Amino acid sequence: MERVLHFIDGEFCESADYRTFDNINPATGEKIGVVAEGTKVEIDRAVAAARRAFKTWGKTSAAERSVILHRIADLIEQNLDELALLETTDTGKPLSLSKSLDIPRSAYNFRFFADFVKGMSTEAFEMEGVALNYALRRPVGVAGLISPWNLPLFLLTWKVAPCLAAGDTCVIKPAELTPMTATKLAEICKQAGLPDGVLNVVHGFGPDAAGSALTEHPDVDLISLTGETTTGKAVMKAASSTLKGLSLELGGKNPNIIFADCDLEDALETTIRSSFVNQGEVCLCGSRIYVERPLYDTFVERLVEKTKALVVGDPLDPKTNVGALVAEEHRNRVEGFVQRAIQEGGRVLTGGKRPEHLSKGAFYEPTIIVDVDSSCEITRQEVFGPVVTIQPFDTEEEVIEAANDTSYGLGATIWTSNLKRAHRVAGEIEAGIIWVNTWFLRDLRTPFGGMKQSGIGREGGVHSFEFFSELKNVCIKL
Ligand code: NAD
Repeated sequence: MERVLHFIDGEFCESADYRTFDNINPATGEKIGVVAEGTKVEIDRAVAAARRAFKTWGKTSAAERSVILHRIADLIEQNLDELALLETTDTGKPLSLSKSLDIPRSAYNFRFFADFVKGMSTEAFEMEGVALNYALRRPVGVAGLISPWNLPLFLLTWKVAPCLAAGDTCVIKPAELTPMTATKLAEICKQAGLPDGVLNVVHGFGPDAAGSALTEHPDVDLISLTGETTTGKAVMKAASSTLKGLSLELGGKNPNIIFADCDLEDALETTIRSSFVNQGEVCLCGSRIYVERPLYDTFVERLVEKTKALVVGDPLDPKTNVGALVAEEHRNRVEGFVQRAIQEGGRVLTGGKRPEHLSKGAFYEPTIIVDVDSSCEITRQEVFGPVVTIQPFDTEEEVIEAANDTSYGLGATIWTSNLKRAHRVAGEIEAGIIWVNTWFLRDLRTPFGGMKQSGIGREGGVHSFEFFSELKNVCIKL
């Protein structure tokens, strides 16, 4: 049975009091290991190690750091099969997805920032004949990196890579439901020659536990969190005591707007993915689908047909499209949302139940609900599971208003072949990332983040470095 340990100052270790919690495979319900449960004691040790390591790591050149980051990427690629299996065992997602998306993208996160950091520049302003100003970019210090369970290594490396590239050191608090790939990453970093203390991993829970100990720690300079909006609020409060820099990537309730003039086949193929990939457990999933009335009946009928064809089952089976949800408790939560949607008048066209052919595991059928409006809980709250609603609309103005009628503002998708309309609607939708005739297509140089209660700050390219480094201006009188 797997024993998942902390990684502090270059060593794997138990908690001081040997406290542990169980790790469960959600696809079988079986216990697959025990995880060291960290508390303030381990966070204190890890932060102290990160602070010591910062003295030297913060002084290395971007070129030196880049070499190590590329080595980490190489090792992730060499360990792809093992990492993919760990990710699937922890999350319940199809192994085919871990192999094609989660792990390759984790390696690419390191490669991207390893290269990007070498091209970073700063600004200079000349006050003609009076003075010359130029900015110097410097690392900040110790960062607390707190990650969620849905894309565990993918989203963690999206933070770790720019953090290390910028010259900061870190203490990672992985999601308690998915601890394994973060631990393997620590092993890989050591093997790649990352100095002891630069990267530390402390396992454990969030509130009143390892998570809050990290966000409250007076010697932590930055907190980067990806998680729920409610968690973001708690973290913001905790981080305020020492004015830590904050990057918050939070929840979403993303509209997927389909105009009648779209390329129907393309829109359907992509909507199947944007609704149900990773069991719908992606912050960017388009859970509110709006279809222009002339296309509504056809679109609904075709999407239901395609949804019914999805294979729900064993994540290890290559034929599986939809695996298990991350935990029994989460599946029950998703189920509760669907039941309440039905009580509010919603009609389930497909799904809405546990698959009959699977007696064990946290499985739930991909679900499409219609006959709901924007006052229903199901169209307002983030479900974070394989559940979408579809609503018809008549005018552009109406759909823009409906799309924006939410406290979230993470992503949106627009399907149309009318270029002017695409620009117009993209300009009006309140979301940090808008796709036109595509979904999940990412250029890592572009800004990524949420508006409204979907987050604070932007990640990606230079934006990640704006967070993980400080600029100081030098003014020289001529
Ligand atoms: P979560 O908020 O429950 O947990 C995220 C992490 O925060 C975990 O490591 C958890 O232990 C920790 N945590 C929880 N409470 C804490 C506290 N008070 N102090 C410190 N740490 C705390 O989120 P989750 O259930 O793991 O992930 C799903 C959520 O993440 C969804 O809302 C989803 O939309 C969001 N998400 C957002 C993005 C994005 O890029 N915007 C990406 C993926 C997931």
